[in-house]
Amino acid sequence: MQIANQKVVSIDYTLTDPTGKMLDTSKGGEPLTYLHGVRGIIPGLESALTGKEKGSTVQAVIPPDQAYGPHDPKLVQAVPRDRFPAAANITPGMQFQAQTPDGPRIVTVVGVENNSVSIDANHPLAGVTLLFDVTIVDVRDATADELSHGHAHGAGGHHH
Ligand code: ZN
Repeated sequence: MQIANQKVVSIDYTLTDPTGKMLDTSKGGEPLTYLHGVRGIIPGLESALTGKEKGSTVQAVIPPDQAYGPHDPKLVQAVPRDRFPAAANITPGMQFQAQTPDGPRIVTVVGVENNSVSIDANHPLAGVTLLFDVTIVDVRDATADELSHGHAHGAGGHHH
């Protein structure tokens, strides 16, 4: 059975950036299970898997515009240090949730100066080319419930 819209797909995957740094992997855990064709995974990976079959391996290089989008410099802002709790030890790399005009977002501290903190509201993988190494573990038809909910159910998928 080939991967196509309305199939539920389970994959083992390892994700690295172009420097070879591992960003994420399913190894040591459950495969990732998703409903194909509803953008449950990034568009570039969905395209790379379309038409492939159970047991196949797929290597995909996915540019930012098919992954988490370009890095937008306008989303990097300096905010006054006193907007943060005085006792907090703010260091680069810290992530926290912030309220923005577009709703809550995860932001990353990218710099700390004397009286200000630079935060980046881009997705942590914005602007990053992603290298996926995928093994297709299973492909099956979606159930009527899964199609109406718009996501996969069961092991590795969505639980109710
Ligand atoms: Zn559901």
